[in-house]
Amino acid sequence: MWLSEIMLQQTQVTTVIPYFERFTRQFPTLPALARADSDEVMALWSGLGYYARARNLLATARLCLEQHAGDLPDSPEALEALPGIGRSTANAIVAQAHDRRAVILDGNVKRVMARHAAIEGWPGQTAVARRLWQAAEERTPDIHARDYTQAIMDLGATLCRRSQPRCQDCPVASDCQGRIQAMLDQLPGKRPKRARPTQHTHMLLIRDSKQRVLLEKRPPSGIWGGLWCLPMSETPPAEPIARDTLPAMIHQFSHFSLHIQPLLIDQTAWNAPAWQISEADNQAWISLDEALSRGLPRPVQRLLQSLQPEET
Ligand code: SF4
Repeated sequence: MWLSEIMLQQTQVTTVIPYFERFTRQFPTLPALARADSDEVMALWSGLGYYARARNLLATARLCLEQHAGDLPDSPEALEALPGIGRSTANAIVAQAHDRRAVILDGNVKRVMARHAAIEGWPGQTAVARRLWQAAEERTPDIHARDYTQAIMDLGATLCRRSQPRCQDCPVASDCQGRIQAMLDQLPGKRPKRARPTQHTHMLLIRDSKQRVLLEKRPPSGIWGGLWCLPMSETPPAEPIARDTLPAMIHQFSHFSLHIQPLLIDQTAWNAPAWQISEADNQAWISLDEALSRGLPRPVQRLLQSLQPEET
């Protein structure tokens, strides 16, 4: 359940299900995950986004193997000290795994609290978050911690949906202040609008005479950390390198948009010594099939898939 809590942060249940199934098949226990290679973990996470979660998951599993005999600790404080586990996730683990009272406030529950207690304002603001925690605290019973936690998460996911909440089926509709005061179209409050900056990059899709592509592993932190990526360059390689310009793509990160101009470059056509590839430790020539089995950012995955021969 710890795994599902992490996967469901910022991602919808329907998207998570196939990833969750693959993950638990490959790593049925926490020690099995702790012993995994980071490339294997990133490959299984590939396409799910927010890759820091995968890195934290592996780091947490390793810490638990070293410090907690291969189990998750059972106190909220010890859980919160692990990478990627915040207050709500730690409390959800305590409530669900140990049936002890612990207050949760994940994304769905924030929405329920904002509506049920009619708390206005964007939940990302500290003062609003404090009121939401307070509302969650007041509504969490002293008994049946596991059942309540599951029920309030399910209520948020199935009835108190982002749009068109199903109030007619809701068991707490009779005292839902947001519904009674006809405020549901304002709750929860929206994030204040901010222009999202755009960054530009060229992605170099370089193939050698064996049709292998040059991939490089990103540093462990930062965007796409730990994933295999095509070399990127703010400026395109200078002529006379032969290259084909492929259709541009835009990839949205939470805080900026990345405009990607892919260039298909045939390494055998490279004559200019300045552009001879010097392979760094983090780079490798990899066949297309193998490249597609690695942990790749979504735009790289799409580009490489576009190079695959069409099936007849
Ligand atoms: S009554 Fe409607 S708005 Fe209120 S908690 Fe239930 S589903 Fe959400």
